[in-house]
Amino acid sequence: MDYQKILDSIQSELSVLPHTGKVASYIPELAQVESEKLGMHLYSINSEHYSFGDSNELFSIQSISKVFALTLAMSLVEDKDIFKRVDVEPSGDPFNSLVQLEYENGIPRNPFINAGALVICDILISILKDPRKDFLEFIHKITGNKTININTKVYESEKAYSHRNAALLNLMKSFGNITNNLETVLDFYIYQCAIAMSCKDLSTAFMIYANAGKTLNNQKIISFQKTKRINAIMQTCGFYDEAGEFSFRVGLPGKSGVGGGISAIHPGQYAVTVWSPPLNPKGNSELGMHALEELTTLTGFSIF
Ligand code: GLN
Repeated sequence: MDYQKILDSIQSELSVLPHTGKVASYIPELAQVESEKLGMHLYSINSEHYSFGDSNELFSIQSISKVFALTLAMSLVEDKDIFKRVDVEPSGDPFNSLVQLEYENGIPRNPFINAGALVICDILISILKDPRKDFLEFIHKITGNKTININTKVYESEKAYSHRNAALLNLMKSFGNITNNLETVLDFYIYQCAIAMSCKDLSTAFMIYANAGKTLNNQKIISFQKTKRINAIMQTCGFYDEAGEFSFRVGLPGKSGVGGGISAIHPGQYAVTVWSPPLNPKGNSELGMHALEELTTLTGFSIF
């Protein structure tokens, strides 16, 4: 498969596409990013790298971090102890919605909406010695890149505008589904969202989901059975109230973030990341979705 040729044709197609997306501004620092940025990186199962554009530039991974947090939690805690506190059903609601939590007794629909990710943070805080350091080290381990860190401006910016996430935490606490101090959980969540990575870093990290839980240098990070489960949750819940649309158009398990990144995998084939900051109304990268739709169309294979 000539992936570079396919990426090149995606790049030229995107350059003429009219775009209507808007860069996220509810976290003010994210609005400072140039909307024209565009990069894509594909890492194939035989260790080849293919890319175009700003694929080596660091951007805010935001909700893509939720996949790494779930993976770390599932590698340390039995599934039954996680999934009694957070479900695995698509929410059909925006990522930061409060409504379901009230009538579902504080149990979030899945680990990839904010409420579910906050529960995963609570679980990690209870078991990790130094949650921030341990989480960052986990990212270093799966990428092989020890320079990855947070963007402190993004971190500070989200801290100042985190009332909705605080509301989610308070509501879950009232149902007994948060055990640690609310400020500590919120801080750890914002910290992980503020991690900055490139498309190349993210594709390298996501290779574990394409390669049955192992890095390409054969480091086992998580079992095949758990990898299969994480991929299933990405497929059904990775794009909030647009998870069906992403399946319909792209047909790969993946995860988006409001920084404009989307990472996706084709099991046994590749991990791919695209970054374009303007978001569609559901909070997913407009051009990113288009690029991945073209990728599965032009390669002629998706998981369906
Ligand atoms: N940090 C963001 C928030 O909590 C993450 C949201 C996202 O990327 N969808 O609102």
